[in-house]
Amino acid sequence: MNRAVSSIRSRRHVARLGFSRAAASSSQAAVEAWDGRFRLHKPRGQHLLTNPRVLDAIARHAALRPGDAVLEVGPGTGNLTVRLLSSPAAHVSAVEIDLRMVEAVTARADALGLSHKLTVITGDAVEVEFPEFDVCVANIPYGISSPLIAKLLFGGRGHYRFRAATLLLQKEFARRLVAAPGDPEYNRLAANVRMVADARLLMDVSKRDFVPMPKVDSSLVEIVPRPADAAAAPGVDLPEWLAFTRACFGQKNKTLGAIFKQKRKVLELFRRSRDAEGRHDDDDSGSSSSSSLVALGGDDDGEISDGDSNESYDGAGGFSEEEIAAFKAKIGGALESSELAGKRPSKLSNEELLRLLRLFNDRGIRFQ
Ligand code: SAH
Repeated sequence: MNRAVSSIRSRRHVARLGFSRAAASSSQAAVEAWDGRFRLHKPRGQHLLTNPRVLDAIARHAALRPGDAVLEVGPGTGNLTVRLLSSPAAHVSAVEIDLRMVEAVTARADALGLSHKLTVITGDAVEVEFPEFDVCVANIPYGISSPLIAKLLFGGRGHYRFRAATLLLQKEFARRLVAAPGDPEYNRLAANVRMVADARLLMDVSKRDFVPMPKVDSSLVEIVPRPADAAAAPGVDLPEWLAFTRACFGQKNKTLGAIFKQKRKVLELFRRSRDAEGRHDDDDSGSSSSSSLVALGGDDDGEISDGDSNESYDGAGGFSEEEIAAFKAKIGGALESSELAGKRPSKLSNEELLRLLRLFNDRGIRFQ
């Protein structure tokens, strides 16, 4: 390829990662300079935040304290990492999937004489086990927003105990995350997060503050987990709750009565309830490894058809029409005593939804 053409291309698509030792230590502006050393991969969410004022604001909002252990996800070339390393925090663990970025952020911490405060973990942040941390601060790859938040709040059998997560997210996702019941954006993700944490918007960030410029704007959000003993509903079986909200919010604009009347749903619940009964009989819980922990929703709350009432009960696994009809009547009974059959899940508080879940569970109707 002609050199001139290739250099025009590289100006558009290639990130400049220059931070020679001298430049890195001389001024903050130089630290955010570029030298076109390698290409950024958009599918990996490689949009580097380059506005120093925004980076400073994120570090300020994180309010790091002396002794804090910080978790960063997707440090990239380290624009945010250097601020976390220069804060009163004791240590930063940064999880990065791209070896080139691992090298870049490591070299940058070295250049600043701060490498003793940094551990870079090479791997997929959704998969790797996180070290213990007090605060998570990150401009994350937006493609993993939902599984990452699920992991922080519900993952690892709920063993991540941290003070706060300050995350830069896609603006629309952030709006959905902080939505309240009755808001048009209210959804399963928000309901699930609300169960265990408080989430609030801190500020919006323009797409122009990133290189390469993404298509979407961003928002900084703070998620503060409630201590386990002060949870909205102590004693809630979280895997069961997550499976329940999955059932409710698949069609969040239908009424609960309509959702739980669908034959496919009745059948699925019938099977799950039988399985749960079997597990109980075997005295083998195993509930914490539910697949419903994998995602919190937020990407899949559209009006997905879940079968309709004309379906037959074929494939009921050897159970009779009568057994299933009796099960359906139990569902109807729970809905009736909740007085929520005519309501849409997106308008209900977690307390109301939880009341319905308990009425279901009391009648042996199980969601996972
Ligand atoms: N935080 C940096 C970079 C953001 S770009 C900044 O603000 O400038 C997102 C970063 O996340 C990239 O470095 C990308 O390689 C990394 N990344 C993408 N998917 C990841 C995953 N699954 N686990 C860990 N890091 C990931």
